[in-house]
Amino acid sequence: MGVGMKEENCIFCKIAGGEIPSKTLYEDEEFRVILDLGPAAKGHALILPKSHYADLYELPEDTAAHAMILAKRMAARMTDRLHCDGFNLMQNNGETAGQTVFHFHMHLIPRYQDDGQKIGWKPGEPSAEELEEIRNKIIG
Ligand code: 5GP
Ligand code: ZN
Repeated sequence: MGVGMKEENCIFCKIAGGEIPSKTLYEDEEFRVILDLGPAAKGHALILPKSHYADLYELPEDTAAHAMILAKRMAARMTDRLHCDGFNLMQNNGETAGQTVFHFHMHLIPRYQDDGQKIGWKPGEPSAEELEEIRNKIIG
């Protein structure tokens, strides 16, 4: 693994492959973990597969499984070293969902009581009928 498909003009392919230098926290055959250049909080990092997959839909299941195991290990390590108070795992797919770099990546965001960030959403108030309708759409 690790020497799969690259995309010519993809910045994360170049970073993951070491062509463009980055603040690397971890590297193996399949992944590179780097510090985000526009961090939401101190220590914000990104898990990048070395092969190019645009998003979660393209990601093979075994790579997805390995990415989650790596996320868990990085979260433990970073929490131990950074003494953060909480931790967000984030992953955006598509422009509408906030994705800006179209090479799959997982955000590792250490959170601190005074970090002043707000990552969340405005909760809706669906009726029982609406919940049933959406459930049927998904499972029906
Ligand atoms: P997205 O919005 O696609 O989920 O996240 C893209 C992330 O990549 C952003 O948090 C942004 O700060 C980060 N980013 C964009 N370009 C670079 C870069 O060249 N180097 C690093 N280290 N991070 C980048
Ligand atoms: Zn790529």
